[in-house]
Amino acid sequence: GSTVEVDPGVEVDEEIAEDDLLGGLKIDTTEDIEVPDRLVDQVIGQDEARDIIIKAAKQRRHVMMIGSPGTGKSMLAKAMSQLLPKEDLQDVLVYPNPDDENEPKVRTVPAGKGDQIVDAHKEEASKRNRMRSILMWVVIAVILAYTILSGSSLLLGLLAAGVIWFIFRTLGQGSDAMVPNLLVNNGDQRVAPFEDATGAHAGALLGDVRHDPFQSGGMGTPSHERVEPGSIHQSNKGVLFLDEINTLDIQTQQKLMTAIQEGEFSITGQSERSSGAMVQTEPVPCDFIMVAAGNLDAMENMHPALRNRIKGYGYEVYMDDTIEDTPEMRRKYARFIAQEVERDGRLPHFTDDAVEELILEAKRRSGRKNHLTLHFRTLGGLVRVAGDIARAEDREHTTRDDVLRAKDRSRSIEQQLADDYIERRKDYELQVTTDGVAGRVNGLAVMGEDSGIMLPVMAEIAPTQGGGRVIATGQLKEMAEESVQNVSAIIKKFSDVDLSEKDIHIQFVQAGEGGVDGDSASITVATAVISALEDIPVDQSVAMTGSLSVRGDVLPVGGVTHKIEAAAKAGCTKVIIPEANEQDVMIEDEYEDMIEIIPCSNISEVLDVALMGEPKKDSLVARLRSITGTAFEQEAVG
Ligand code: ADP
Repeated sequence: GSTVEVDPGVEVDEEIAEDDLLGGLKIDTTEDIEVPDRLVDQVIGQDEARDIIIKAAKQRRHVMMIGSPGTGKSMLAKAMSQLLPKEDLQDVLVYPNPDDENEPKVRTVPAGKGDQIVDAHKEEASKRNRMRSILMWVVIAVILAYTILSGSSLLLGLLAAGVIWFIFRTLGQGSDAMVPNLLVNNGDQRVAPFEDATGAHAGALLGDVRHDPFQSGGMGTPSHERVEPGSIHQSNKGVLFLDEINTLDIQTQQKLMTAIQEGEFSITGQSERSSGAMVQTEPVPCDFIMVAAGNLDAMENMHPALRNRIKGYGYEVYMDDTIEDTPEMRRKYARFIAQEVERDGRLPHFTDDAVEELILEAKRRSGRKNHLTLHFRTLGGLVRVAGDIARAEDREHTTRDDVLRAKDRSRSIEQQLADDYIERRKDYELQVTTDGVAGRVNGLAVMGEDSGIMLPVMAEIAPTQGGGRVIATGQLKEMAEESVQNVSAIIKKFSDVDLSEKDIHIQFVQAGEGGVDGDSASITVATAVISALEDIPVDQSVAMTGSLSVRGDVLPVGGVTHKIEAAAKAGCTKVIIPEANEQDVMIEDEYEDMIEIIPCSNISEVLDVALMGEPKKDSLVARLRSITGTAFEQEAVG
């Protein structure tokens, strides 16, 4: 128990902490939880990445973060900027160059000075203007007075006054043009800058010079005023964050590399044919720390020299997707909700049981025994949807019921598709029945990341058209062939049927939607084949998932929780899962009474549950039991 330092404001009951979803936290709502000020202290999990950004901030090293979206990469980069010294901050000014209009001068001053300099220049300019106009009116008055007094033509006098006015106006025009352009202003910056340049085009990243349509006439905006900073300049002395770095084109990556090497980078117009392209400033400082991020793929597609640069002069760190579920961690997840509520500013705080429901969801989404998901962006999304529901109804707090409704609402696209699919199938022939059908098995698959779907498999045995083939259709062909291979080793042992004289047809009923992961369907295919071969019906109220070894063992698979829920939704009353997956089951309460979960470790147990019609079935199962698993192994060895 080491909560005390996490949150001194809240009492923890250590007695119950181990089994309590809140880790023993004694709160009524998340309002009772204190949120740390520094962003780096708000980061949950990712200890390694956290240590590295703290170290890298001290040493001013670049960092590359590799991992899934929404696990805290940009949060950590921003946290890093808060750890950098603020004293180093600078303002950057661009001045006209009297010698070469196309090469504006660049000057750097301590933060806050830039504004003062610009103000002083403006003051100066307006003073000059005032003096000039006083002088002008005096001259005009003198001319007019002289005209009247001397009795000359009034028209001539007015004309002369007009000429004077024109001369002064033209002279005055240049005076504003001497005011420098405050390119980077850190005057109000309380911490070192953080710039997120993800997806920025070259101009936004490297700076740009605007096009001047009037350039030739000398009437246009002077070039130094048209200079615009890039993120690399705005993040000077701070952090430049670049997610999906591989999406930058190669030239831009090259320029970025130069900027990193030199610590300064001239600004020029990025669109080649514009007048801006003729302008190139003196070098502008860009001494930033780069935090590059992406998934593993992104890293591989990144400019190798740029990657080496970071590797050689900085750190590379992998983000975790899940973290071990401990009481302390659960308390931090409660704090996460408080953080998100506070950050949003409009959501009602969460009641204790609403927090519990979210922690349960974090367990569920981890898909791993005794773990919590670290995919916080989507979890934060759920917090906001739940809070919005409560807010829309003007309630003081967000309740467990709101969280449940939010979960329903924020289903992923895949989940919505799958539900829709099940709805549609209910209208047709795919309804679950309690009948037995030979060769037909309710398999289960996962669509996308988080949605289960029932996927029936049909097997038919026919005399071979040549050589005993496995004929399967669709994208699951390979998987089907492999499962049949595995099951045929077993079939050889107990059946008189010579598979080399048979063709096995395997069909996945309505698997046309795509994105279905078939890895885990091999016990399904095996059951269908054996049932078809022996002509023993399969109970259609049973669904199953599991992988099969050549020895007949049922091996663990992914996504069991979602698969079980899909089976229950489709109306099955029993579901077979690998025994090794028993710990991964985290189904929602509403499904618990709908379906019986039967863990199996061997194909004989699967068939015992799935097949109907004793005594034929019993004798088959008995035969199988004697040859699979350890028995099979001994036989194979002996
Ligand atoms: P990434 O850059 O990895 O895609 P972000 O840092 O943008 O993810 O995360 C999005 C949001 O999710 C953050 O603003 C924060 O609210 C929350 N979040 C993400 N990771 C964490 C974490 N490790 N601890 C606390 N909150 C997190």
